[in-house]
Amino acid sequence: LLQVENLRKSYGDNVVLDDIDLTVAKHDVICLIGSSGSGKSTLLRCLNLLEQVDDGVISFGGREITDPRIDPRAVRREIGMVFQAYNLFPHLSVLANCTLAPVRAGGVGRRDAEDRARTLLARFGLADKASVHPDQLSGGQQQRVALVRALCTEPKLLLLDEITAALDPELVGEVLEIVRAEAEAGMTMILATHEMAFARDVATSVCFLHQGRILEQGPPAQIFTAPREERTRAFLQRVL
Ligand code: ATP
Ligand code: MG
Repeated sequence: LLQVENLRKSYGDNVVLDDIDLTVAKHDVICLIGSSGSGKSTLLRCLNLLEQVDDGVISFGGREITDPRIDPRAVRREIGMVFQAYNLFPHLSVLANCTLAPVRAGGVGRRDAEDRARTLLARFGLADKASVHPDQLSGGQQQRVALVRALCTEPKLLLLDEITAALDPELVGEVLEIVRAEAEAGMTMILATHEMAFARDVATSVCFLHQGRILEQGPPAQIFTAPREERTRAFLQRVL
């Protein structure tokens, strides 16, 4: 589904992503782990064309999306992204948040978009929140709505950047349950996370980033119990 080759990205002299190669197949759940500043967010933003890459090729669904003739908005309709801080539109109801993109950009009729949004909200325990505004929701509820909103565009790939990092610990579980349910339903995902237990449980593959490189990639059972790289081992010792 997604292929990244020789991706490079710098901010001035600071090389943030260096020679990144990554292949993502349909239904993969790839977890990006690594210290703060290792490049996880930047990589996700490059995949969604929120950052311009300096070098390398990203192909999505067989098309080279790093081609300058590609419309980033068309790509972002198929690649959903959710960030750490909930970025719901505060002046819109939950339902309107969820239907805005499908109706405006996706060419979906309002009724169809609302039906789909209500179905997803109900599935994730938010049926009674459709008409409230985001500021009337808990942080966990807001992040669940942000996930529902991303799913409403029926993305082929979902990018999740530390979506539980800003939440109180007791709210983390309810958000991760949605991610787990989507993973089990076959959604292809790449997620940056500090939730190691979750990564171990849900990932099909774990990438350890260090100073802008994928230093090591493998199945969670291998990365978490028998990392090949000393730096991976040192990182895991700090966080586990
Ligand atoms: P964290 O775990 O803290 O979220 P991360 O792995 O997501 O870290 P990035 O946010 O990708 O790391 O940052 C990687 C490097 O890129 C850092 O050195 C950071 O300072 C730098 N960087 C990120 N965004 C910008 C920007 N817009 N301008 C300049 N430098 C940036
Ligand atoms: Mg980050």
